[in-house]
Amino acid sequence: MESINNKIIPKPIKNLILAFSGLPGIGPKTAQRLTYFVTQKSSEEIETLSQALVSVKDHIVLCEMCFYIMEINPDKDSRICLICEGNRNKNQICIVESPLDVIVIENSGIYDGLYHILHGAISPMNGLGPNNLKIDALIKRIDNNIEEIIFATNPTLEGEATAMYIQELISELNVNPTITMLARGLPTGADLEYSDFSTLSNAFENRSSFNYSE
Ligand SMILES: [Zn+2]
Repeated sequence: MESINNKIIPKPIKNLILAFSGLPGIGPKTAQRLTYFVTQKSSEEIETLSQALVSVKDHIVLCEMCFYIMEINPDKDSRICLICEGNRNKNQICIVESPLDVIVIENSGIYDGLYHILHGAISPMNGLGPNNLKIDALIKRIDNNIEEIIFATNPTLEGEATAMYIQELISELNVNPTITMLARGLPTGADLEYSDFSTLSNAFENRSSFNYSE
């Protein structure tokens, strides 16, 4: 950012602009706007904001089963999220890239099975290989009780390559679940989290069988 090197910008301001710029979807302009917004707030308001940031790191963990985000429960040893614990169809696993995708699908109310969150997609360009994702844990979850595996990775090159990679691993297992993927009504190249309700429910209802090797 050119203006960040400007000598008349105080260093703490530059630092905060840089920190905001590292967030997804935040360009230099927005980072500057957020920074000046912060300078105008009272110390109490900023304290609340920074507490919320720290608290997310301290109190949120990933579910041991599906890797969805969950609040730590100090009374329990196991870290199993409300979805995995809940009264769901446990014969279905919907594979998504991000916890935000789970929130979108849950808000739509069109699915009542389980999830598995990969936390990304295979992307050699970004240095993300299969080992950086929660793929091993997914394969371990798939046994004869699983009747359907739904790929809901993003309709991007990375999302589709990831689905194909996982589908191959599943085909090597001694199990026979139906494998489907969301209908391509979703805008190509877009993230699942940005799809609207009707697009998403259509994509679920019209999901088609997905078999890479055939
Ligand atoms: Zn879970």
